[in-house]
Amino acid sequence: MNNNNKIPILGLLPHELKTMLSPLPSFRVDQIYHWIRRGISSFNAMNNLPENLRDDLEKRFTLRSSEITRCFESKDASLKLQIKLSDGLFIESLVLQDQFERKTACLSTQLGCPMACVFCKTGSMGFFRNLSAAEIVEQFFHLKENRAEISNIVFMGMGEPLLNLGELRQAIAVLTADDGKESFSKRRITISTCGIIKGIYDLAENGPAVRLAISITTADEALRQKLMPAAAENPLAELKKALHYYQGKQGKRITLEAVLLGGLNTRPEDIRSLIDFSKGLDVLINLIPWNAVEGLQFQGHTLYEPKSLEIRDFAAGLENAGLKTVRRSSRGRAVGGACGQLGGESSLP
Ligand code: SF4
Repeated sequence: MNNNNKIPILGLLPHELKTMLSPLPSFRVDQIYHWIRRGISSFNAMNNLPENLRDDLEKRFTLRSSEITRCFESKDASLKLQIKLSDGLFIESLVLQDQFERKTACLSTQLGCPMACVFCKTGSMGFFRNLSAAEIVEQFFHLKENRAEISNIVFMGMGEPLLNLGELRQAIAVLTADDGKESFSKRRITISTCGIIKGIYDLAENGPAVRLAISITTADEALRQKLMPAAAENPLAELKKALHYYQGKQGKRITLEAVLLGGLNTRPEDIRSLIDFSKGLDVLINLIPWNAVEGLQFQGHTLYEPKSLEIRDFAAGLENAGLKTVRRSSRGRAVGGACGQLGGESSLP
């Protein structure tokens, strides 16, 4: 059996592994799962298992269906990995470190993205396929091996997470599975979506109970539909209803992310519309200065980064209306891993 025919073990929940290994006693399955969760990279190193069991695992499963092909590090301690999938295609994932040395893993859920946001490098690639749960979980372990302890996970890499909700849900279930040892807390996981209404209702009803962030960009409907063409199918009025419903069910504060594009969505009407959109919702507004990506244009004009004064005035307009804002720095920029920059040429098939 070659590696392509083996089952990627990191996509499995404990009870699924138990079923596959039946009639193996539960304590053996627990031992195997514990090794997997510690990020072990060889079945042979599972030294408390009998040799014939290690051989059997080696024949049937793979610990990594993907491999790191390139690694980019920057002075601000950001790390971006280029990861080759089993079909030869590439994705990117990264770790960003903040001033308190907290490390956030930014994971991809799709190869490319169908949403085609004009300011996003991934969006300019088009869409190729969804990632499997194993391919999502493996990114976490690849990053963990290179950056030790990861404090937070955000699904904000390549792709729209809520268009791959089944595999994402399985990946989160694996990462947070309570095996009493290495599980990751749901409170430290955020799904960032450009506002897929159907997916938000699904999350409200069925979980997982993680944090939710919406890439709002602007609450001016006409401009939003131009900047995020696929958002036209998810109009703001319906999106707001979905967020009310979500908040009623899950009771959690929602983050609104506004990627600020120089001279485009930082106008007084963008401030006013965002204030209106936020009314009645419990939100925190994350202001993210856009990072230049060569070649991206809007209506024939090159996009540019916002000036500091523009960001300051935008934040002040929201804060004067009583909204809470966070101004995010452009960590990851040096490795091409800042917001909107994922999807190097290497990702293309
Ligand atoms: S910003 Fe997000 S949703 Fe929009 S194209 Fe990029 S990856 Fe897709």
